[in-house]
Amino acid sequence: MKLEKIMQNTLSYKNGKSMGINHEEIGDNHILTSYDTPLRPDAFILSDETKKEKIAHHFTQIMDTLGLDLTDDSLNGTPKRVAKMYVEEIFSGLNPKNKPKIALFENKYQYDQMLVEKDITFYSNCEHHFVPIIGKAHLAYISSGKVIGLSKLNRIVQYYAKRPQVQERLTVQIGRELMKLLDTESVAVIIDAKHLCVSSRGIKDESSATVTSFYNGEFLKQEKINELMNYIKNI
Ligand SMILES: [Zn+2]
Repeated sequence: MKLEKIMQNTLSYKNGKSMGINHEEIGDNHILTSYDTPLRPDAFILSDETKKEKIAHHFTQIMDTLGLDLTDDSLNGTPKRVAKMYVEEIFSGLNPKNKPKIALFENKYQYDQMLVEKDITFYSNCEHHFVPIIGKAHLAYISSGKVIGLSKLNRIVQYYAKRPQVQERLTVQIGRELMKLLDTESVAVIIDAKHLCVSSRGIKDESSATVTSFYNGEFLKQEKINELMNYIKNI
């Protein structure tokens, strides 16, 4: 977790303002400023309904500015559709009220080896371009006495994916959440994803993928990493 300290020291967002990093400089470089999603303290004062109204209004302005004819039958519902999709679906993981409720169970079987949940498909969105990140997450943990329903591992991934994200942050947020929930140090998260801002625009590289990882506890040992890699690759 040393890296986390470094990131906190270089935290560049305060009160919603960028402090020291110019967005022109960020450009296509996906800079991560913090492992916490940079949210303002008043992020949830507005109701979801008000947010949808405001987003629809502003999205109308964007489409209008682009010169699109909003009286066209195909286009006139788009601002509302986008607003609903942002608030209720693809950015619903910003709001803590949508966090999945997780029940833990006693580890009755005394299973003390790693549990791996692999190939969890997720869709997120890049916070620098607001276009999709599509990927797979592989999670692993070694129980310290508590276990979690397998579908809940999937739900944790989906919750953090439904935010404007950078892949490094998504990886660490999932890892930290699992450590906290399961009360274990031994957690690993590997994410393998494609970024549409890289493949569909900018450099237009269709074949590249980005891999990020979070290893802690027993997973800092090379033998555990090797075992995990073996499961992910071969089963
Ligand atoms: Zn991007």
